[in-house]
Amino acid sequence: MSITRFNAVEKASNRKAIEVVTPTQKVSDYFGENVFNRKAMQKYLSKETYQALTDAIDSCKPIDRQIASHVAAGMRMWALEKGVTHYTHWFQPLTDGTAEKHDAFVELDGKGGMIEEFNGKLLTQQEPDASSFPSGGLRNTFEARGYSAWDPSSPAFIVDDTLCIPSVFIAYTGEALDYKTPLIRSIEALDTAAIEVCHYFNEDVHKVTTFLGWEQEYFLVDEDLYSARPDLSLTERTLIGHESAKNQQLDDHFFGAIPSRVQEFMKELEIECYKLGIPVKTRHNEVAPNQFELAPIYEECNLANDHNQLLMSVMKRVARRHNFSVLLHEKPFKGVNGSGKHCNWSIGTDTGLNLFSPGKNREENLQFITFMVNTLMAVYKYNSLLKASIATATNAHRLGANEAPPAIISSFLGKQISEILNRFENSSIEDAIEVDEKKRLYLGFGQIPELLLDNTDRNRTSPFAFTGNRFEFRAIGSSANCGSAMLALNTAVAYQLRQFKTDVETLRAQGKSKESAIFEVIKTYIKESKPIRFDGNGYDDKWKEEAAGRGLDCESSVPLQYDAYLKPGVVKMFEETGVLNHIELEARNEVKWEMYIKKVQIEARVLGDLSLNHIIPVAVRYQSVLLDNLSKLQNTFSEGEYTEISAEPKRLVRKIAGHISAVTRMVDEMVEARKKANRIAGMREKAIAYHDTVAPYLDEIRNHIDELELMVDNQMWPLPKYRELLFIH
Ligand code: ADP
Ligand code: MG
Repeated sequence: MSITRFNAVEKASNRKAIEVVTPTQKVSDYFGENVFNRKAMQKYLSKETYQALTDAIDSCKPIDRQIASHVAAGMRMWALEKGVTHYTHWFQPLTDGTAEKHDAFVELDGKGGMIEEFNGKLLTQQEPDASSFPSGGLRNTFEARGYSAWDPSSPAFIVDDTLCIPSVFIAYTGEALDYKTPLIRSIEALDTAAIEVCHYFNEDVHKVTTFLGWEQEYFLVDEDLYSARPDLSLTERTLIGHESAKNQQLDDHFFGAIPSRVQEFMKELEIECYKLGIPVKTRHNEVAPNQFELAPIYEECNLANDHNQLLMSVMKRVARRHNFSVLLHEKPFKGVNGSGKHCNWSIGTDTGLNLFSPGKNREENLQFITFMVNTLMAVYKYNSLLKASIATATNAHRLGANEAPPAIISSFLGKQISEILNRFENSSIEDAIEVDEKKRLYLGFGQIPELLLDNTDRNRTSPFAFTGNRFEFRAIGSSANCGSAMLALNTAVAYQLRQFKTDVETLRAQGKSKESAIFEVIKTYIKESKPIRFDGNGYDDKWKEEAAGRGLDCESSVPLQYDAYLKPGVVKMFEETGVLNHIELEARNEVKWEMYIKKVQIEARVLGDLSLNHIIPVAVRYQSVLLDNLSKLQNTFSEGEYTEISAEPKRLVRKIAGHISAVTRMVDEMVEARKKANRIAGMREKAIAYHDTVAPYLDEIRNHIDELELMVDNQMWPLPKYRELLFIH
């Protein structure tokens, strides 16, 4: 039986912080102790195996069978010494979160006993029962053959008694069924394209790495309050609930003291993260009550994304020990800020240069401008795709709400960079580009000031902001797999860099010098990509109009936003870069539409149940109390007096009756709309029907119920209210 409201409130308010014992060692002593990292590899692998493995990892080459068996043997020994009994391939299907299938390290020895077994074949490949993971029709369930394959570039780690092996997840026919595969391909595509462009400036570059530093926002709610709300437990979002009289108006939560219960949770979470090699660094309160943020030191993009996926599951586990539920939903509470996951993105060379870092010396500035302008072009050309890459049923509640960027992609550069681009655009080649005797290219107008990290020049409303040495993609939802957005961004920039090279080479073939070709192309790009640059207030309604005028994608329906993936130019881009082929793209969209449908469907069911079985009965009961009171008043007072006294209570009864019938009627209509939508065969059309005809009821029904919450006796109200959910003591 689920816990009742008052029970839950009482338990939550009496809860004490659960103290965490801090390790006596320094963080540097236990950092990564549950990771088969290079230190562990060195200890458990022979010199030759270690060398072969790390070489293969560093050069992204496949690992041969024999090496794999040696690695498996070492990994097994390491894991067994740590008390591990099982292993699993750990992968990222197209649903939320990660998946794993645990197998014990044992085999029959043929003599009636068991031996510990784990070999190269088991390390490299596993066959989960893939039929329950979405594939967009790529696999029929009767041939549910998909397999997971070891990704050696992300180290194996231990959770509880299980060795987890980061893996890709692929259909037997070769198509990717996960986020990791195309993410890795996009990182490679960007590497290849960026190296070529770097060679215009420096021949010594042999590798370009993509970096990601995420900032994870989340809410904490006491576990009993969470259980007392069927909507939270089943959808991670409150489908009803009137705003609390006090929520975030005072901004007193942001950077305020962290409550001790939460502090202990964070402490333990950080310890767990360090053991798993996740380099978490900052933690603080966020804007909304009960909202917090955690950010690590940035890492190589594939590893960083694995770490974020791992973090989300570790968080849930640690929270349980502190009697909290973690909400990763993008908008768990109406009228209160939602949660995002800012993805800080940059690229750097093996010569130690961050390609988005200006100002260290003159010779690097032109290269910086080149990468900056190409990124702007990519974001401009593929703004619909980037939006589609972050679009989900849940993130849609956050985007366009008062605190988050609207569902329009634009980029903020800050005053200094904007001025430099403007100056470049209006200058002649003599001013813009210089060449020295070694044929190295310089930005003609000297230094770009290093003061870029100046906080006064940070636009918090921009979905894609330049923040001094990186871009910060802020439109990503808190529950998302960063891979979705990162692979779209990497591929778009890679493709754009290829285009840049083609454009420069075309001009050179016409007899232009390298310098003037680069100059001309950059100048054209600065002009062309202007519509994506927006330094104003992204929350302002006027921006929506202006953005539409600039030709930016303003589509607000999630199912229609997904169409961006299948536009001919986008399919071409993904195919030519080798990141995703059209079959994979089509299958992925099927999955996206299906996920959208399921989310709205579940919310509609839960709200229907809450309305009819939790709220209406209480409202009716309270209405009877009022009616009872009215008849007692009538018996007590003279007719004249009664008419006067009863006017207000009667009005209240009428209002309640109005809301009750509105809710009842709309729940019926919503069920009908759902039935009708369910009869539609195509996923896309069905998702559109859910968006257009089912989802609107969720808000309308809620409004009536939230009004009822203000009228009905507080003692009778069955669900914890916002003021009870939102303040941890
Ligand atoms: P803010 O909230 O001001 O944006 P935070 O310190 O919370 O800043 O987060 C900044 C994030 O950006 C961190 O994860 C950090 O590691 C990351 N970051 C810093 N420099 C880079 C970079 N060059 N490339 C990618 N990520 C970076
Ligand atoms: Mg940030």
